[in-house]
Amino acid sequence: MAKKAEESKYKKLEEKLFSKKENGWLKFGRAELGILEKMNREYMAYISKCKNERLFIDETIAWAENNGFKPLESYKGKLKSGDKLYIGNRGKNLLLAVIGRKGVNEGMNIVASHVDAPRLDIKPNPLYEDGDSAMALMKTHYYGGIKKYQWVNRPLSLVGIAALKDGTTVEINIGEEPDDPCFVISDLLPHLASKAQGDLKAGEVIKGEQLNIIVGSVPVNDADVKEKIKMMVLEKLNNDYGITEDDFISSELEVVPSGMAREIGFDRGLIGAYGHDDRVCAYGNLWALMNMKKAPEKTAVVFLADKEEIGSYGSTGMDSNFFYHGVSKIIDAVKPGSSEIFVRDCLAASSALSTDVSAGVNPEFKQVHDMRNAPKLGYGVNFCKYTGSRGKAGSNDADAEYIARLRKLLDDGGVPWQLTELGKVDEGGGGTVAWLLARWQINTIDMGVALVGMHSPFELASKIDIYACGKACKLFLEEFV
Ligand code: MN
Ligand code: MN
Repeated sequence: MAKKAEESKYKKLEEKLFSKKENGWLKFGRAELGILEKMNREYMAYISKCKNERLFIDETIAWAENNGFKPLESYKGKLKSGDKLYIGNRGKNLLLAVIGRKGVNEGMNIVASHVDAPRLDIKPNPLYEDGDSAMALMKTHYYGGIKKYQWVNRPLSLVGIAALKDGTTVEINIGEEPDDPCFVISDLLPHLASKAQGDLKAGEVIKGEQLNIIVGSVPVNDADVKEKIKMMVLEKLNNDYGITEDDFISSELEVVPSGMAREIGFDRGLIGAYGHDDRVCAYGNLWALMNMKKAPEKTAVVFLADKEEIGSYGSTGMDSNFFYHGVSKIIDAVKPGSSEIFVRDCLAASSALSTDVSAGVNPEFKQVHDMRNAPKLGYGVNFCKYTGSRGKAGSNDADAEYIARLRKLLDDGGVPWQLTELGKVDEGGGGTVAWLLARWQINTIDMGVALVGMHSPFELASKIDIYACGKACKLFLEEFV
């Protein structure tokens, strides 16, 4: 009898003391699962269309304008609670805001993400004819961290712009329509691969200088032309886009995987797509902002950065002056004549979610994780207190007090979440834009969607986590004080 009483005492204590993380699919009722499916369908269409940072920003400005956002200039230097605005930066970087009910001196709630993704960039002098194979190819230089062997033998699209000497730009987007041609990098057949590739390490199987896309195989019928296949390619490009070989020098053309985002599994619980990193979080940021029904408590800011995958440098990266400059302009329009000290005070009183993807447990490669601290797909939006490598180096390492407030926000709001690490200690590592926000003394933590197959041409995310990320951003932007 005494033994049984003791057992039930521990049953109650277990209930109270043990962490209770459960699969997010078990957390939502039918009505909310309906909202989740709708959001995910819209997200799939969005990233299928926005294959690079320029397309993502263009689409976002159209979405924002449909929801009443206007360029900051159109407010003529005067902003009040409820006003919705955006500031663009060279078509690749965007700041959006909704002015809150509280004064800007009480701080802003900021969510940031990045809209660039790993890809292959066309080189400045890309086009050549290879007489031995009777093909024309274009050379690329990869952008961001990729496993090069993943980019061969699959349809690839070409997206971007060519800027011409006359000041105009030509948009190029080939490979996404069913009737479009696409491009490919061909790997070696297994029959002849044993000497050429058999003993190589994974990183050397396909080398950087082998990432050349096949762009042509038909010669022009003219005996006087030396490189007939290259001529055919240039003739087509000139007819369709009005560009010449020299125009590649002032172009930004990106080679990306062709095709739409797809549902994965009999139960359709996962989404496979190119560019989840980090457009899945950017979409969550925007979904939160666009679905905001009334003015938020604090001024809500969404920042979409470019160049994260190559270190956040450059005029459109998180490290540029644009963030500080944009926020200063907003503060000055809310409270004209604000001093620089006032702007810095506003930032120091602010809070931020650096929303970026993290490494979910891959069923075939569990050994890279400490399973007690690894994100599972479907267990909700994922926080990382710190990222970095070799003893958290290069990491933001969020404050415990800040995490406590966020735990409460998400628990009270019914959002499934987990807090994990990026792999085992000393296994590898990585970074995000978090430290670039934190350096303004902004309370900052990494939060986002866990992916399997990150940085591959077809990354996986859970619909639960995509929705949880959007819902967490919404609670944070609307209510966090
Ligand atoms: Mn990322
Ligand atoms: Mn990345």
